[in-house]
Parts: sequence; structure tokens; C-alpha cells
Amino acid sequence: MVELSATPTLDPSPQGGGKAAGPSLVDPFGRHVTYLRVSVTDRCDFRCTYCMAEDMTFLPKRDLLTLEELDRLCSEFVGFGVRKIRLTGGEPLVRKGIMTLVESLSRHLRSGALDELTITTNGSQLARHAADLARHGVKRINVSVDTLDAEKFRKVTRWGELSKVMDGIRAAQAHGIAIKINAVALKGFNEQEIPALLKWAHGEGMDLTLIETMPMGDIDGDRTDQYLPISLVRAGLMEQFTLEDIAYKTGGPARYVRVKETGGRLGFITPLTHNFCESCNRVRLTCTGTLYMCLGQDDAADLRAPLRASESNDLLRAAITDAIARKPLGHDFVIDRRNNRPAVSRHMSLTGG
Ligand code: SAM
Ligand code: SF4
Repeated sequence: MVELSATPTLDPSPQGGGKAAGPSLVDPFGRHVTYLRVSVTDRCDFRCTYCMAEDMTFLPKRDLLTLEELDRLCSEFVGFGVRKIRLTGGEPLVRKGIMTLVESLSRHLRSGALDELTITTNGSQLARHAADLARHGVKRINVSVDTLDAEKFRKVTRWGELSKVMDGIRAAQAHGIAIKINAVALKGFNEQEIPALLKWAHGEGMDLTLIETMPMGDIDGDRTDQYLPISLVRAGLMEQFTLEDIAYKTGGPARYVRVKETGGRLGFITPLTHNFCESCNRVRLTCTGTLYMCLGQDDAADLRAPLRASESNDLLRAAITDAIARKPLGHDFVIDRRNNRPAVSRHMSLTGG
């Protein structure tokens, strides 16, 4: 694999970004696409039961874009007015050399073209990367923790060790990185534990976001057994806590409340009970250069061919604008016994959460 230069240079071209300069991406419904999520690998060192089957087949390594190619693609989106990039996966921190991509993309933070560069991680490798993330301008990250019980943690992740994740969280905090905990609400697994998760996260100065399971990709079990509507979780929490609606937004799909008793923020991502598509500002890029315009639809655009076809970015730019012109209004996620098939066949780990 070609490594990126250790000392990234500032891109002086218009594609290098610059506040309010240059073209922007507007979809057919008038929504500005300003947020790019990049799944830098579909691989992972965990096998969360709601995300993957245990014997997952991953993409052949030869199909992956190099880190340089990912940088070129991301930078093109920055040139198109994208203000926020989230690296995700699979597990982004298991991709070899990932810090060179973070370092390289950080030039867009320094130039002011990008507001935020962030990651979503399972935290397993965070302890050894926290210092570099902070050094490259990453100020906030999402860490997924579905339970505080080490045995249950091992069960839901199949391979994960909670203590390592906790070490990672502490290391990131020690380097001044703000953390939001993501927890998938799972029926019969963590529903009783959500108040404890909330008290823990807020007690450690972290936001918490609760996510509904989305029907993406085949898993070993039945998703109807896992599905827990967030509306029920919220009703349960309101028996113990005072939830005050707030206008806080992070650019993602979560709606936030302030929990009066803890003073902390609690987010809800409710793709099934409350469709979040109307304000969607996001597109998702896979590690093979496929652009998904919607997390819950199959339509996609291949950006790898135009990327590799020439050194100039003209073909790539045309492919990006064509793709945005096809961004659908929203997804059609349903989970019930009659629809016991994934809404989309790909796993969340391919497109990133
Ligand atoms: N490996 C990293 C992690 O777990 O944070 C990043 C990728 S993971 C796909 C991103 C987020 O998606 C995680 O918070 C995970 O819990 C969530 N997730 C995975 N599969 C999901 C599903 N089917 N429905 C809802 N959330 C899911
Ligand atoms: Fe890996 Fe994240 Fe999926 Fe869990 S949710 S298997 S940590 S990609």
C-alpha cells in the first residue's frame, strides 16, 4: 500500500476548500450535503451480534482504495463544501496506517475548509491512538458501548474486552477529546441497563446516544428479537428522569434532550419510530470507493473508476454531482415478523454507522 506523506501539504487549489468558496452539493430536495461518512475498512476486531454474522466474509484487500485515494476522494468532497468528515467502518482504527489519513485530512481543518474531522470507534484500539488523534485536530469522537457488564459486553461483541475500551475512553479524555457514547437499544439485553449507562456516561462528562437497530445485512439471529423502539426506552427513562428538549445538533441524525438530574445530553437516533430523513445532509463512502446516497437504499455510485481513470479530478467531480442528483428522499426501514429480511443486504459495517 502506498503510504501518505508524513507531512501533508496545504492544497492551494479551489478544491482544497475555503469557507463558502466554490461549488456545493445540493440534492433534488434542496438539502445541502455537508457531511461525509467514510467507512475506511469493512473489517473489525469485534462481531457485534446486531451488526455482523460471526463468520463474516470481508472484501478482498485488493479491492480497497489506498489511503492516498481515500484522501483524494475526501478532499474532493471538501472542495464541494463538505464541512464534516467522520471516519468509520468496520472498525476504523484497525485499518493499517489509518493515522496517516487522519494526519493528511487534518490539513483541511487547519485551512478552515473543514469544521470537523471525527471518528466512530469501538474503542478497542483507542488507547494507542488517542494522542495522535488529538494531535491531528480530532476534538470529539463516538465510542460504542452497549453495556457496562464485562461478560455481557463479551457476549454482544462476541470478541470484545470492555476493559480495553474503558482504557481507550480514559486515554482519549486525558488528551482532551470529548466523547459521545453510542449504545444500540436491544430488547432483553440492555433495556434495564439504560439508566445505568446514562448515569455513567453523564458522570464521566460524556454525551450518550441511543440507537434503534436497523435492518441491515444478514446476522445470525432474528432482528425482531432485538428490536426495541426508542419511544419505549424514552417513556421508561421519563419515569426516572426529566428530559428537556434542546436545540443541540451535531450535524448527525440524533435529536437531543438535556437530562435535568445529571445535566448531561442524551440523543436518540430513531430511524424506525421517527424517520430522520427530511433533514439528511449526509452521504456515505465505502472503502472501495462506492458512494451510497442513503444508508437505507441500495442505489450507489462508483467513484473508484473515475478516480482511477485520470489524474485530473474532472471525471470524479462529474460522478459526484451525478450521484448527488440521485439522492433519494429517505429510507424504508421496517422491522416486523412479516418483513423479517434486511431492508438492505449490505451490513452497517460496509457503509459505516
Ligand atoms: N466499529 C465502530 C463502532 O462500533 O463504533 C464503527 C462502525 S459501527 C457500524 C457504527 C455504529 O453503528 C455503532 O455505534 C454500532 O453500534 C452501530 N450499528 C451497527 N450495526 C447496527 C444496526 N444494524 N443497527 C443500528 N446500529 C448499528
Ligand atoms: Fe464492529 Fe462496530 Fe459492527 Fe461492532 S458495530 S461489529 S464494533 S463495526
